[in-house]
Amino acid sequence: MTSTYHFLAIDLGGSNTRLGLFASLETPEFTPLASFSTRAAYDEQLEQMVTALREREVTGLEGAGMSVAARVARDGRSLVFGPNVPEYLGRALAADLEARLGCPVRLGHDTVCGLLGEKRFGALRENERCAYLTLSTGTGAAIQLGKGAAALTSSIEIGHQILDGNELLCLCGQLGCLETLTGGRQLELRYGRPLAEFADEVFWEGFSDKLALGLLNLAQLTRIDTIAVGGAIALQNPFLLPMLQQKLDTLLRGSRVQLLQAALGAHAPLIGAASLLAVPEETILH
Ligand SMILES: [Zn+2]
Repeated sequence: MTSTYHFLAIDLGGSNTRLGLFASLETPEFTPLASFSTRAAYDEQLEQMVTALREREVTGLEGAGMSVAARVARDGRSLVFGPNVPEYLGRALAADLEARLGCPVRLGHDTVCGLLGEKRFGALRENERCAYLTLSTGTGAAIQLGKGAAALTSSIEIGHQILDGNELLCLCGQLGCLETLTGGRQLELRYGRPLAEFADEVFWEGFSDKLALGLLNLAQLTRIDTIAVGGAIALQNPFLLPMLQQKLDTLLRGSRVQLLQAALGAHAPLIGAASLLAVPEETILH
């Protein structure tokens, strides 16, 4: 295995962690290595990853990229905010992994990784001003603004923009966040049952009315023109994208934003984690 695979990608999600091996950074193809439930304890999580590599006799890695469901520190070396992994916050995650894996390690917010994956191999290949939006337990996004060979990618807090007239308290502590109306976790907490059980046509109309406002704000503030949409809520409800597109077209003046289905589906964070290794750290604003 040492001669074939040079790069490791890790998708550290709130509930599951997946590892994949890449022979090259120039294709999205990978070999799944392991999948296990994300450990709450930091040291146990690191040990699980090392064990998975040892069992498959993987050595001689040139680099590893990790997608995390948490906000990454500005220097890209640790995690600073993430309700899913409280015990990891402030730990020297990149350095600790480098010591165990024996290769350079890069970290990225899962939305940044989703964007990089879609940009290099998926729906955003042709776009210089674009965003990746994930509709899942939370509402997250990253944007990339580029011109020619230069491009900056930034994680943004799209779910925590305030919508006028919304008086719901968000889990983040602010009043009136978009995510109180579009985040799977907040909706399920408020209604007390799984999203699939209460989401009917009236619900989705309201959901997409609010989300369209959020996307309009995003477009006006950043002048992006294309958004790849992923995450479980989008993947499980294919009618949502055309509904959102129609509402956005009605609201937005002066430009048009094209919504596209994320092409890499559930693999976007893992493929994007490997893509971290193909773009300079200085081009990512964590
Ligand atoms: Zn909020």
